[in-house]
Amino acid sequence: MAVLTQKKKKHNFFAGPAILPVPVLEQAAAAVVEFEGMGLSLLEISHRSKQFSAVMDEAFASTRSLLNLPDNYEVLFLTGGASSQFFMTAMNLLPQGKKAGYLNTGTWSDKAIKEAKLFGEVIEVGSSKEENFNYIPKDYEVPGDLEYLHLTSNNTIFGTQIQSFPTVEMPIVCDMSSDIFSRPLDIEKFGLIYAGAQKNLGPAGTTLVIVNKDLLGKVNRAIPTMLDYNTHIKKQSSFNTPPVYPIYVCMLTMRWLKENGGVAAMQERNEEKAALLYDEIDRNDLFKGYAHVDDRSRMNVTFTNTNPEQEADFLAMAAEADCVGLKGHRSVGGLRASIYNALDISSVEVLVDVMKEFGRVKG
Ligand SMILES: *Cc1c(COP(=O)(O)O)cnc(C)c1O
Repeated sequence: MAVLTQKKKKHNFFAGPAILPVPVLEQAAAAVVEFEGMGLSLLEISHRSKQFSAVMDEAFASTRSLLNLPDNYEVLFLTGGASSQFFMTAMNLLPQGKKAGYLNTGTWSDKAIKEAKLFGEVIEVGSSKEENFNYIPKDYEVPGDLEYLHLTSNNTIFGTQIQSFPTVEMPIVCDMSSDIFSRPLDIEKFGLIYAGAQKNLGPAGTTLVIVNKDLLGKVNRAIPTMLDYNTHIKKQSSFNTPPVYPIYVCMLTMRWLKENGGVAAMQERNEEKAALLYDEIDRNDLFKGYAHVDDRSRMNVTFTNTNPEQEADFLAMAAEADCVGLKGHRSVGGLRASIYNALDISSVEVLVDVMKEFGRVKG
């Protein structure tokens, strides 16, 4: 099917929705036309069909095996985006009158804090707001009486990433929207992990939630059925119609991850890609990194032109070389190269070549 081949594949540095592996796109495209020789599209079959049940089963099993999940952790594919998890986590895990701690490392943490305040007391244990979130606070105090500590593992907008998760007495609740499956995790530290799919996992439309079920059922407030994690655990994410197509594409991505060595191999690849790009940013006088060196993200590389007036020229030169999605988020400005799992190192090499060429022309 020639229609399935992209004529001019670009080097995709968009932050989200973002790059997916080519074999995943090809299989996803084919399934829209006909799924499993059924004479039907994946889009027009029951979510309770045997064929789609097999997709769900593989999606659950792959999540478990990629992250080595113990039996007391449940996997869910929900809707409403990571943004709905900002309130769902607090609604399900924070009893009235109890406290939760939040580390404020950017726009997304800020939003999570605002939502959690609807349900209980929020202690902001640390914040890098005064430096426009260009670093991850360390050495912050964590009071012993918190129900959980909420972290954002990777700050998509500011390009910072927690390189080593703290050891604390309470479970960590973590927004991993933009670095899920990018590295192995010490899963026992986490009570709940959530990730909107559209950064490092699949298309927009589903949110992966991994939850230690021992933490549930401890709040006494009334929770609407659809917002109660237990509803979705009991029905294996099919209490209502799940987002079948996004889940299918996530399942294909996880299959691709497993075929390519799993999260440990991804970590190696991601470190190599990030080092290549940061080395050029540090070497080339025409560019400057945004985040503190120790906190630099291996997923979203934020940088600026030393002379901001050169930015448009640089973006034009990058576009000539088929590098797209490099404009920074409006709250930081400058440039951002998102280098998620699916991005091959060859794309980073092309970008680095453009930066070198820019140095020769403008330096
Ligand atoms: C994109 C993003 C979100 C918001 O995700 P939605 O699915 O659009 O709600 C939350 N947290 C992080 C870290 C993100 O990168």
